[in-house]
This record gives sequence, C-alpha cells and structure tokens, in this order.
Amino acid sequence: MAPTVPFFQQVNLNFDTAARYTDFPSGLLDQVKMCNTICHMAFPVKRDDGAIEVIHGWRAEHSHHKLPTKGGIRYSTLVDEDEVMALAALMTYKCALVDVPFGGAKGGVQIDIRKYSTDELERITRRYTYELVRKNFIGPGIDVPAPDYGTGEREMTWIADTYTTLNPGALDTLACVTGKPVEQSGIHGRRAATGRGVYFGIREACNVPEDMKTLGLEPGLDGKRVTVQGFGQVGYHAAKFLSEGGAVVVGLADIGGAIYNSNGLDVEEAFQYRGENGSLFNFPDATNLSKPAHVLELDCDILVPAALENQITRHNASRIKAKIIGEAANGPTTPEADDILKAQRVMVIPDVYLNSGGVTLSYFEWLKNLSHVRFGRLESRFDENMRRNLLKAVENVSGKRFPEEEQERLTHGATEEDLVDAALEDTMITAYHEIRTEARALGGEFHLRTAAFLIAINKVAQFYMQAGIFP
Ligand code: GLU
Repeated sequence: MAPTVPFFQQVNLNFDTAARYTDFPSGLLDQVKMCNTICHMAFPVKRDDGAIEVIHGWRAEHSHHKLPTKGGIRYSTLVDEDEVMALAALMTYKCALVDVPFGGAKGGVQIDIRKYSTDELERITRRYTYELVRKNFIGPGIDVPAPDYGTGEREMTWIADTYTTLNPGALDTLACVTGKPVEQSGIHGRRAATGRGVYFGIREACNVPEDMKTLGLEPGLDGKRVTVQGFGQVGYHAAKFLSEGGAVVVGLADIGGAIYNSNGLDVEEAFQYRGENGSLFNFPDATNLSKPAHVLELDCDILVPAALENQITRHNASRIKAKIIGEAANGPTTPEADDILKAQRVMVIPDVYLNSGGVTLSYFEWLKNLSHVRFGRLESRFDENMRRNLLKAVENVSGKRFPEEEQERLTHGATEEDLVDAALEDTMITAYHEIRTEARALGGEFHLRTAAFLIAINKVAQFYMQAGIFP
C-alpha cells in the first residue's frame, strides 16, 4: 500500500516534532533540515548480450556541517531522489547521536540486482563510482560510501579499486569507502555490526526494570519472543545475536516468505536452509505465513523490522502485538503509525539510534585506513606480557598457581575484534541512556524517537553556532 507521505517529508515531520523543544532560530533549523547537495546521474551500461541500458543513480549529501559525509549505497528498484535524501538525513542524525564525526549522505542505484550478472553489476558499480569522482562526491575527506540494501563487501571492493585507480599515488584512497572485506583493508566485525548494535540496543532497553514493568514485561532479554522482518546482513545478525543473548526467535521473514514457530526457530539452521533453498518457505518444524508482511503482526514481545522503510503504517499499526519495536531498518515506521503505536503504549526504539552500529564500525574502519595500522597491533603483545608478569608476581607471593585456562583468560591481549566490539557496546549503551533520559524529560519512555531527534538536532545546530555561521 502506497505511503501517504513521501519518505523525506516523514523524516522532516519527526524533525519538526523534536525541533519544537528547541529555541534555535528557524533559519538555523532549516539549514540543519535541508539536504545540502544531491547528484543525479544517468549513465550507460553494456549488458552481457551487447545491449545498452541507461542506469539511474543518485548521491545525496544531507549535511556538510562535518566532513566527510557518510552513508551507504543502495541497489533497489525503489531508489529515487526522495529516498536517498531521506536516508541521507537519517544518516546525519544517526552520526550526531552516537558521536561519529560525519555529516550524513546516501546513494542509490535504481536496479533489481537479480536481473544483472556479476559482470554487469561490476560495470555498473565502477561506472557509478567514476561518476561520483567526476562530481567530487567521493573521497576520504569528502564523502565515504558503505554497504546498504542490495550491496556488500564485493561492491565496496570495486568502489575502492576504481577510486584508487583514478587517484594514482594518493596515500589514503582506501578510506574512500567502508564495509570492505577484511583482506582489503576492511575491519573485523563490520559485516555483523548493524545487527550487533541492534542486539546491544535492545538488550539495554530490556535491562531497565522500570520500563519493562511499564510494558508488563520481565526485565532482561531472556525468554523474550522476537520476530524479525528481513533476513539480510542486518536481520540475520540481529536474530543471531538476540537468540544467543537468550531471546527466542519465533518468526522470521525475508522477501520470499515468512515462517513461525512459537517454540523458537534455530537462526543458524534457518540461515543455512535459506542459502540452500533460496527462501525460508517450508523450513522444517515451522508454519509458513501466507504473506511475508504478516510477520509484523505475529504474537511476540519484540518486533525487529530489518528490511525497508514504510513497513509499519496506519494500515497495520493497530494489529501489531509486540510491546517493543526495535527499528533495525531505516524508516520502517511512518509518523502516522508512530502515533497509533504511542497510543497503544508500544515502545519504539528508533532507527536513528538502533541501527547506528554499522556506521560506528565504518568510522573505526575509516580511522584504521587513515592510520594504516590495525587496532591493537602496537599494544596487544605488550599488554599480554605485562599481565603475565603480574600473574607471575601474584603466584610467587601466594605460592599458588592459576589454572592454564584462567591464565589465558586473564592475560590475552586485545585483538582488533575485541576492541571494536567493546567500543560498539559502549557506544550503544551510552547513547541509549542519553536518549532515555531525554525521553523522560519529554514526558515518558514512549518518546524515544523525538528524544533521539532532539539530541541530534542540538548537536548539529550547536556545531553550526560554534562554527560562527549563525552568530
Ligand atoms: N548503510 C548503513 C546505514 O544505513 C551504514 C552506513 C555507513 O556505514 O556509512 O547506517
């Protein structure tokens, strides 16, 4: 069903709701809200059969208050100017919220990836990158893309390679894009990062006894029934970490079908099954749902939309049974649906916060590429040796020995994976409490989105003020 309000306008409605709580000059608020630049390109691609096709692509840079701008590149038939502007705006607020020092951007190419061969997708990606270079819409200090719906490590490698080829001798070219494979100067944990952040965020929300009591739920993630819509990089990892964290995944949906089992589904097995069969349909011991969208209305405690925007609308919001909605996707809930959910006293953990794990790890990858050294390389062995010496000293004084595994656990030097995972956990926990505190100041635990926007607006507007642009 078509949404009533265009996506960018929906984001701006959320902005306006929050902006009412500030006293910044209206011109400054307009500057924060507007999309600063947008580039539309139409370029030819040669199909494998020799035919020539025109491809449409966009890149929107929503806010230049901090540079580079940052945000993914999406390949989908739904991509258009409105969508990339909305998604770029969400990136600005997301980065501000978790103190990642970038402005927001987003790109997209209007294609159905299933209709193109790998060679054709490579030609499209390289030509799109070339267009970005020509328009000065990509670079380590300009605008840094990343994966999004329909793209992944493979596309990021093509982008990095094209950019590097076009900038011979430049030192930092690999920092022109994030989400690269680890072997291509990517960072450990980036692939799982958004889902991992979703898990940390939901776990933190569930760990506040007072809020769980208001929702009529027990504190903690343990035993909470979860359904996940979308089984790509984000949905799969969110489901995996939530189930490893003690939740019971009762419903899963991807583009081809949805399944349900009130006793719980094995996420790893479902992932493997989908890989082998192309869809989740007929997964053993599960009931098929006639429409993937029905997964949103299943009986559960936590619903995680992890697919696309405009999924929870005024048409289905009143049928949602979950007490908590964890927005792993960007823009899954329309403002009209938000009002309905608020009236139903559903806690919505907003996208701008909950899916920020991806860009947080992208920030670490960008830092790693600029410093040309992996995290932990300099100090890992030194730390380990120091701790071993300490344990030895304790053993000498006490005359007792630590068991081998205990020694290993207490002394091991942090790897890149350990460091970025701890940093992500800290980022998600800190930001959650910042938002929760602001929400309570606004009147309750159901105002998390407005609180998140308010914090982001304050940060961006204050940055402009301090820069002296609006004295
Ligand atoms: N596409 C992701 C998002 O929507 C990640 C962006 C990035 O890493 O720059 O947040």
